[in-house]
Amino acid sequence: MYAFEKVLDQDLVKKVLSGALEKGKLAHAYLFYGVEGVGKWAMALELAKAVNCEDEKTKPCQKCTTCKKIFKLVYPDVNLIFPLPPLEGKSGSQRASEKQELIQKIKEAKISDPYDEVRFFKKTTISVDDIREMIRYLNLKPVEGRKKVVIIKEVENLSHGGANSILKVLEEPPGESLLILTARGVDRLLPTIISRCQLLKFSSVPSDIIQAELRERFKLSSKKASNVANISKGSLGKAIYLAQKKGEFAQKSAKKFLKLCYDDGLKETIDFVESVSKEYTKDEVLELLDGCILVFRDLYLFTQLGKEGKTLDEDLEKLKVFFDSLRQLELAIREAERTRRAIQQNVSVVLALLAFSFKLKYKTN
Ligand SMILES: [Zn+2]
Repeated sequence: MYAFEKVLDQDLVKKVLSGALEKGKLAHAYLFYGVEGVGKWAMALELAKAVNCEDEKTKPCQKCTTCKKIFKLVYPDVNLIFPLPPLEGKSGSQRASEKQELIQKIKEAKISDPYDEVRFFKKTTISVDDIREMIRYLNLKPVEGRKKVVIIKEVENLSHGGANSILKVLEEPPGESLLILTARGVDRLLPTIISRCQLLKFSSVPSDIIQAELRERFKLSSKKASNVANISKGSLGKAIYLAQKKGEFAQKSAKKFLKLCYDDGLKETIDFVESVSKEYTKDEVLELLDGCILVFRDLYLFTQLGKEGKTLDEDLEKLKVFFDSLRQLELAIREAERTRRAIQQNVSVVLALLAFSFKLKYKTN
């Protein structure tokens, strides 16, 4: 029996994979795709465990040495490849140790929670060297397990050279090996990569499952859990991120931005927007907008239900005075969502955020 208990939901994917495992018909290469935080990584690890687990009955058993080592990301027959930001060290050895530190940081996050993400402030890539090393690795026999497994995270970040090098391996993976590629979508992938993998789409996690998880893990109230789940739009990873302290980044930058919009002069707002466009990644700009939506929703709940619905912190108290009605808050939420979509569709961050701030400042909806 195959039980992928570390993965929430995704029943269809689980069914396909356990069917293939039972019949001994696992593909050599899988491409798990779907938005961030829906369990692609968690499933990749579960599959790596399932093919190497020592238990006779339930795989992965989560208890044998193999399962435990894979969980801790120290199993010699599972190799992990992550996209990394540019290395800044001057010498080769500096860059090598910098790289090890980054990988360690990602691993620690993934060990503590497979749905967790380390967010970098820069564009990340998977280098051709990593792919070459992976090919050498796959050509060696397994050390402890039955299969050598390679998991490549966010394969859309493969460098041009890396993408070319990987094709041959995907065509004919050496010996007993299994490649698991994950990607947020297939649009940016070479068709030659897609056609060499078996594709499995990961769907959004239903809101009730996310809410239950948030209530259990972080002891959130039902209202707060439903609020966060709503904004996360089916990404458990994002919901966890927002619910944890890390979500404070979004909240803090959102409060700063809104304070500028309502309180301060135009110049300060423009300066802030320009610095955001230079220093934030696109994901972080989207988080800033999520943070704004959270603030508006909190104010909405407060206005609607009074102190029973929500207590406001000092920052929110100050922002509250700018809204006379629920209608205004509804419009502000709609505007934030519209700005979010525009940025997702690659409208310039400066233009989109400035337009948003003007609409808030002058209440022109
Ligand atoms: Zn096991």
